[in-house]
Amino acid sequence: MIANIQDNIAWVEDRIATACLRSGRRREDVKLVAVSKTHPPELVRVAYAAGLRDFGENRVQEATSKRQALTGLGATWHMLGHLQSNKVRIARDLFQWVHSVDSPRLAEKLAQVGDPALAPLPVLIEVNLAGETSKAGVRAGDVEALAEQIAPFATLKLRGLMVIPPYSENPEDVRPYFRQLRALASSIEARKIPNVSMRELSMGMSNDFAVAIEEGATIVRVGTAIFGGRT
Ligand SMILES: *Cc1c(COP(=O)(O)O)cnc(C)c1O
Repeated sequence: MIANIQDNIAWVEDRIATACLRSGRRREDVKLVAVSKTHPPELVRVAYAAGLRDFGENRVQEATSKRQALTGLGATWHMLGHLQSNKVRIARDLFQWVHSVDSPRLAEKLAQVGDPALAPLPVLIEVNLAGETSKAGVRAGDVEALAEQIAPFATLKLRGLMVIPPYSENPEDVRPYFRQLRALASSIEARKIPNVSMRELSMGMSNDFAVAIEEGATIVRVGTAIFGGRT
């Protein structure tokens, strides 16, 4: 298992490097978040030892127990899943990034539990580009309004957008969604809303991160290709 994870990371890094080369981008402009949900803390340690520093979880409860087993690890933690309002305070303590802001109410709660004396929490707006009712995220047409609502909160810093496109075996099927997210970010950036940056595009998972990088991803979230399948 340990050797597998090291090999898997090397494979993922190789694909990231190739995608960067193909699209004229620099490796340091793409952050690899290793999605450790469902996997035990020992595997996080293996990935950390192999050089990874950013880890993603999608449930507060699981992240809480995992983090207790990983105290002292100098990792950066990313919240990727839907955040319930009663979990906001604990999420704020556990995570250094939140990719899944999907309502003004959640943004307000996250802002309220923040300490104004500390650095603002980097957040992304999750966009539901395909309008799938089964998924969280705001519709493309509502992103600008939400960005304007987040902007005044001094304890949050809006850094960009996140998408989980409809699943397809063929990564080419999702390329249009990645393009759409990038175009949406550019159009909002052009509004020059104070305290709003659209620099970060969190897009691309195990099956399609290379295509996402070609389309401008600055953060890819890779689980299965690093840790293996989830049961
Ligand atoms: C689980 C998950 C991932 C990782 O998916 P893989 O296909 O295993 O790479 C990425 N992003 C989010 C939001 C997830 O929930």
